[in-house]
Amino acid sequence: MGIFKKKQQVVKFETIDIPKFRYHRNPIDTGAFIENKSEKKCNSCNLTSKYIYLEPYYSKDDVTCLCPTCISNGDAHSKFDLEFQDPECCEEITNKSILEEVCYRTPGYCAWQQERWLACCDDLCEFIGCLDWNQIVLQGIEDEITAAILSNETYIEVGHSLEELIDAINSKDVYLCVFQCLHCKKYKIDINMS
Ligand SMILES: [Zn+2]
Ligand SMILES: [Zn+2]
Repeated sequence: MGIFKKKQQVVKFETIDIPKFRYHRNPIDTGAFIENKSEKKCNSCNLTSKYIYLEPYYSKDDVTCLCPTCISNGDAHSKFDLEFQDPECCEEITNKSILEEVCYRTPGYCAWQQERWLACCDDLCEFIGCLDWNQIVLQGIEDEITAAILSNETYIEVGHSLEELIDAINSKDVYLCVFQCLHCKKYKIDINMS
């Protein structure tokens, strides 16, 4: 008589690669890539990847699931005429190919307001994440971020004191989209308010 051994259901991903992105330091930490728990297939290569890209997608096509590799190698961009960041909302730099790398081949990020990609030393910056004050302290970069806040145009416009701004960050009315220059290592921030 036959005994049917129940095979344990093991999730098998066809690809687990996460390429390095020069302008987005850790897409898992930032939440750009999430674990592919429902085993969706990448709309571009049709493989089931361990991690998939969440959002944003700027495309006329209905793209909802991409693997990190198809973002990195430009396949997703060329197949769907897709952007991950609006080129109009990047700070100005002279080298157009950098703009293409960020908008076409780098995972984007979501903010409450229009996402801006900041620049420094004539290069776009590396995106670190949208952080609250707690996360900034955990990373040990509060002095650098304080300096960035004090030199930030939005902050000056708003006219808050630094303490008021940190209070607002702590009560989650404000958070900071944090970037770091790849050259001078300075931190730059975009202030997001609810
Ligand atoms: Zn893919
Ligand atoms: Zn710089």
